[in-house]
Amino acid sequence: MKIGIIGAGQLGQMLALAGFPFALQFRFLDSSPQAPGAQVAPIVIGAFDDIRALRELAGQVDLVTYEFENVPVAALQEMAATRPCFPPVDALRVSQDRILEKELFSRLGIPTPPYRAVDSRADLDAAVAALGLPCVLKTRRLGYDGRGQRVLKKRADVRPAWEALGGVPLILEGFVAFEHEVSIIGARSTRGEVRAYPLATNTHREGILRVTVAPTRNARLQRSAEGYLRRVIDHFGYAGVLTIEFFVAGGRLVANEMAPRVHNSGHWSIEGAVTSQFENHLRAILGLPLGDTSPVGHAAMVNYIGTLPDRDRILALPGAHHHDYGKAARAGRKLGHCTLVAPTAARRDEVLRRLLRRVPR
Ligand code: AMP
Repeated sequence: MKIGIIGAGQLGQMLALAGFPFALQFRFLDSSPQAPGAQVAPIVIGAFDDIRALRELAGQVDLVTYEFENVPVAALQEMAATRPCFPPVDALRVSQDRILEKELFSRLGIPTPPYRAVDSRADLDAAVAALGLPCVLKTRRLGYDGRGQRVLKKRADVRPAWEALGGVPLILEGFVAFEHEVSIIGARSTRGEVRAYPLATNTHREGILRVTVAPTRNARLQRSAEGYLRRVIDHFGYAGVLTIEFFVAGGRLVANEMAPRVHNSGHWSIEGAVTSQFENHLRAILGLPLGDTSPVGHAAMVNYIGTLPDRDRILALPGAHHHDYGKAARAGRKLGHCTLVAPTAARRDEVLRRLLRRVPR
């Protein structure tokens, strides 16, 4: 069985690695021959909307998936016409547009921050008046890792934010004074089996995920997140792994966004859960029984952003698993991560403090 993965970044690389024990073979599509996936499988070189390259990939594989949510919907539709393609194209379409995403959450009864669509400076002024300050201006499409957003704290922030982001469709969101951020990752198989991982607690800086801790022991939030995940999964007749990120504000979940793919906040599951998110994504799209999502201890994952740490010093920490994606260093770029697994939360937190001192920030 050959699986095509659109995108050969680290998520694609880790998906392929998870498929090797099942004797699965992989082909990627990516514009860069140096992408991390190149270490583990051949890459068809081409842009994500290059129809020739997409056809070439389709011709080489039995099934297609993607690791990157900015794949053009039309490109995926082209693939889906000739090969089974998961997760569903409609989930990709909704996840690409923050307004469609929030409209869907609202229709499904999932709380979101208050929001307004902004297409002009007049819309922005009206939206700021309606939502109040502080608030967050974001591009509706193609934003990731905090790119394409500005926090507006005072009236004087409105004009520079408009000058920086205006010209493309925007969304203004009320600023959520959250206690923490959490994410739920779950999978539905093509046979309809559903499993969810325990909630992960995520810390971002400058919009980029820095640290994930899992499991988050909060039975009430877990039940609520699983219920919301289930509604989205049922809505799309989903297959594959789905992630929803939430703010926890006033002890309740407020949905920020969803990703129809494996997610950085699930990397801990490689060593910290019985079955990783990557293996479960493959099981889900192949219609295999899903694996146990239980944690095997208490995990923490720290991203390496911009610079790699000294590998020997990381490996000297108890329960540390070092992942280097093989990427060229660049400011703000995710180059790798480390996952710690410990028998107790207290022990995990103690080693995490030492790990954080060894990772350049
Ligand atoms: P996003 O690209 O929407 O995931 O935003 C990146 C990060 O910015 C989030 O993980 C939050 O830490 C922060 N953020 C985004 N939207 C809001 C909001 N409406 N209120 C408060 N913080 C936000």
